[in-house]
Amino acid sequence: MTNKSVQWQQHFIQLGNNNQSFEESAAFTQETINQLFQAADKPYSGVQPATVKAQLQSVDFSQTESLHAVINTVNELIAKNSILVQHPHTIAHLHTPPLIASVLAEHFIAALNQSMDSWDQSSSATFVEQLMIDWLCKTYQLGPRADGVFTSGGTQSNLMGLLLARDWFAFKQSAHNIQQDGLPDYGHKFRIICSNKSHFTVQKSASLMGLGERAVVCVKTNVQGQMDLVDLQLTIDSLKTQGLLPICVVATAGTTDHGAIDELDKIVEIARNEQIWSHIDGAYGGALQLSAKHQQRLKGIESADSVSVDFHKLFYQTISCGALLIKNKANFNTLLHHADYLNREGDELPNLVDKSIATTKRFDALKLFMTLKSVGADTLGEMYDNVIELTLQVAELVKDNRNFELCCDPLLSTVLFRLSDKFQGSLTAAQFNQLHQTLRLQMATSGTAVIAETKVDGKVYLKLTLLNPCLTLNDFDSLFAKIESYAVALTTKEL
Ligand SMILES: *Cc1c(COP(=O)(O)O)cnc(C)c1O
Repeated sequence: MTNKSVQWQQHFIQLGNNNQSFEESAAFTQETINQLFQAADKPYSGVQPATVKAQLQSVDFSQTESLHAVINTVNELIAKNSILVQHPHTIAHLHTPPLIASVLAEHFIAALNQSMDSWDQSSSATFVEQLMIDWLCKTYQLGPRADGVFTSGGTQSNLMGLLLARDWFAFKQSAHNIQQDGLPDYGHKFRIICSNKSHFTVQKSASLMGLGERAVVCVKTNVQGQMDLVDLQLTIDSLKTQGLLPICVVATAGTTDHGAIDELDKIVEIARNEQIWSHIDGAYGGALQLSAKHQQRLKGIESADSVSVDFHKLFYQTISCGALLIKNKANFNTLLHHADYLNREGDELPNLVDKSIATTKRFDALKLFMTLKSVGADTLGEMYDNVIELTLQVAELVKDNRNFELCCDPLLSTVLFRLSDKFQGSLTAAQFNQLHQTLRLQMATSGTAVIAETKVDGKVYLKLTLLNPCLTLNDFDSLFAKIESYAVALTTKEL
């Protein structure tokens, strides 16, 4: 043993040792983070993005320094220039302030560093993930054969759901095994049906699955942003008449921009009658299952073949954390691959890699475990009720404000609005759109407020996504005052 191996010990947690320097560094990190939050009064520092980039580029990796010094650097250059998700005016995306239980779970997750692929890398953690999956399957009432797996989020969950649908369909159609033999010769006829408000990851998944984005057929939506069921049936009929093969219908429980929840029960029923797989993208609205008040809006979710749920959105978990749930666990078989070194056939203990597209995988299930046990599912449900109620009140504020025009009544927790005509003056429609984009960007880079924008029927709208259950109407009075003053400043300059 060289001296070096002894020296290197300082960089690792040691067993049978009090790890004093680890404890001190951890405490120092925690103190640094606490101070940052304590001093924070803006969603973002307001430091110009180019300055942040240049400062980071000047970090010299040919020199090392103490961990203490590095923590200070991280604080100055990175933490202080982060988007502060806890700020009431950070309200753009499905990007949540995390629960303390989830943040602390990350401490365990990081230090224990369990890997969820095989039991011998995760022992108790394997059982925790399965326990949480069983709890979810029960909560979503998916029945006795249900199962699921934790994923990195909605993107991965949707991909997996569609992958299972594809493989199931080919097997049903002609006992063709895509896992072994690749796409069948009729694979180019596969079609995935979703609505024109579905998440773009449906298209992305189709592309990754070798079907191509053009294999996705979008059904019309009604004024509420829900899939039009008449058009759904017409689309299926028309595809079949053309000799094409609809393999899956994707329903959305909470579209990203409008929060629209499709009529899940009817869509699942149509899919079942047509012998098509039904997948529900519940990345956003799937959380309503915990709300006694709003749960019935998800009626039908219990009958779907697969469901995506995201915990790093309305479940207030740290990124990343999501799951795919399926009605019949036998369908996971198409993902099963036995590797001699990892999950040999006949292993007595469970290896979660059997049902995952990831191999090495984070122990995110612990975050949900600690949340359910400390905050509780019912409280989460009440938080959603509160957020939904507050969203309606915020929409009323917009309606009552002559400076703004509401796009549509909120369906979940987003508010879409734009500046009223009085700000348009002599601007063309395109210039007026551009004005909204400039306003959003300037507010973000100056650290005033982080709001989103989206386009509806060619018009740019500003978008607020409410997730934080601790907000009050006062937070919105001040936000709208800020937006108004930016609008005034920008238009007086323009005109
Ligand atoms: C956020 C979202 C996704 C993507 O999920 P990630 O967790 O960001 O990967 C998919 N579908 C919907 C409806 C979403 O809101």
